[in-house]
Amino acid sequence: MNSEQNPAEFIVVGSGLTGAMAAQTLVEGGAQVLMLDVAYKNETGNKFPSDNFLAIRQNNPNQRDLLLGKDYEGIPWGAIKTGAQLTPGRKYMAKGIEHWLPIISKTFFPIESLALGGLGGGWGAGCYVFSGAEFEKAGISKSLFNQSYQTVADRIGISGGQDDIERFTTEGLQGIQPGIQVEESMQRILKKYNAKKAS
Ligand SMILES: Cc1cc2nc3c(=O)[nH]c(=O)nc-3n(C[C@H](O)[C@H](O)[C@H](O)COP(=O)(O)OP(=O)(O)OC[C@H]3O[C@@H](n4cnc5c(N)ncnc54)[C@H](O)[C@@H]3O)c2cc1C
Repeated sequence: MNSEQNPAEFIVVGSGLTGAMAAQTLVEGGAQVLMLDVAYKNETGNKFPSDNFLAIRQNNPNQRDLLLGKDYEGIPWGAIKTGAQLTPGRKYMAKGIEHWLPIISKTFFPIESLALGGLGGGWGAGCYVFSGAEFEKAGISKSLFNQSYQTVADRIGISGGQDDIERFTTEGLQGIQPGIQVEESMQRILKKYNAKKAS
């Protein structure tokens, strides 16, 4: 195949974070990419508004249905199974996994997903970078990895504060957006921590 006339073609299986990053890297390199996914979606009509969580908790009259469900179906009343913590509108994320991706174990309960966007579609993410010492232990160069961290951070947009956990979260990354507003109880915990951290 002449690569100038027919750019390379790739099939990426999975639209989760890994597949999305791989596909975008290929597309940015000029390749043609087909993405395949089982891609279950939320078809309940119980869709989270695009407001931030704080605004929902403060103002949304429908929040009980969103978080617990009309019939409290978001509460795991019976045996706790994989996905028990998913709110009603996110139950689709665990759909089909017992049938298609069964894992039988008494000690290992991973969350797997066959949803559009994979597991990353289900919740806001905290970002954690490996430290220099951790990389050293694994025999990997941190500076090499930082370029990859930066690429991902530029693509997805990361917000965060400049605080004591920065070195575990966004250390070395450029262009971090301001931290989000935190709710009252979190503010109280943070205030207490700041007052006592010296001791
Ligand atoms: C409760 C929870 C909280 C988390 N919090 C964080 C966090 O704060 N920060 C963080 O960095 N990470 C967090 N993670 C981890 C993170 O969500 C996962 O590491 C990441 O989403 C994995 O991405 P992935 O693309 O490898 O896999 P997945 O997200 O599982 O995506 C796999 C995709 O492949 C598709 N697929 C699978 N098999 C097939 C098939 N045979 N044919 C077609 N399609 C298929 C699925 O439909 C799915 O879309 C959390 C995970 C959980 C469970």
